[in-house]
Amino acid sequence: MANLRKLIAGNWKMNNLASEGRALASEIGGYAAAADAPACDLLVCPPATLLQTVAETLGGGPVAIGGQDCHAEANGAYTGEISAAMLADGGASYVILGHSERRHGLGEDDTTVLAKVAAAHGAGLVAIVCIGETEAQRDAGQTLEILSAQLDGSLPPDGLSDANTVVAYEPVWAIGTGRMPTNEEIAAVHRHIRTCLQQRAGADADQIRLLYGGSMKPENAATILAIDNVDGGLIGGASLKAGDFCAIAAAADS
Ligand code: PEP
Repeated sequence: MANLRKLIAGNWKMNNLASEGRALASEIGGYAAAADAPACDLLVCPPATLLQTVAETLGGGPVAIGGQDCHAEANGAYTGEISAAMLADGGASYVILGHSERRHGLGEDDTTVLAKVAAAHGAGLVAIVCIGETEAQRDAGQTLEILSAQLDGSLPPDGLSDANTVVAYEPVWAIGTGRMPTNEEIAAVHRHIRTCLQQRAGADADQIRLLYGGSMKPENAATILAIDNVDGGLIGGASLKAGDFCAIAAAADS
């Protein structure tokens, strides 16, 4: 399996006003620009209100910027929504799609996520497509079939590559809870996701980065990031503290 350059992505969710976002981005940007910066890719996904502030703070440096969601349509009468092109216009090159807080909290299904992925690709954004089982599905032994179905339903049938897609495995029950699958379970799931992607995209699938997300912290990052087919992390809570986020990035380089 190819040893891919890891991606450490921070999902700030609905947190931070301008002064806090500026300070957080500034610390992460400074860390990434330092001579001994880790050999991994860094991404921050602030709320849409902070995209331009964060873009100005990062000043085109090595830290990439992402949105947390986009609408499937390019424009129109969709009050409160943001298009993929608007995210790109604000400085984003990535967008998180199908996060469990949208799938389960806001009722997004695979069809909705698929349409958003197509919109993101159309606007030149890399889609970080989130998949993951609930605790009940895990307890019922359905994890792999749920993930297969989410991949089938959320990813476009053609044209997938590392240039437009990242897949994030985020067990719903592990998000923000401090609970996690075992390393063996993460390895088995990521192997399964890789196989599903290979069936769809052939050899190109080997270059698509697979992130683990769910209670990743500086203390557990090195172990998780060393697992086969784990090509980075999607970090929620720990991405709000520059020290923790940068420590996870350092672990990706070890
Ligand atoms: C997330 O929401 O994508 C996430 C992984 O959150 P946390 O790291 O807080 O579990």
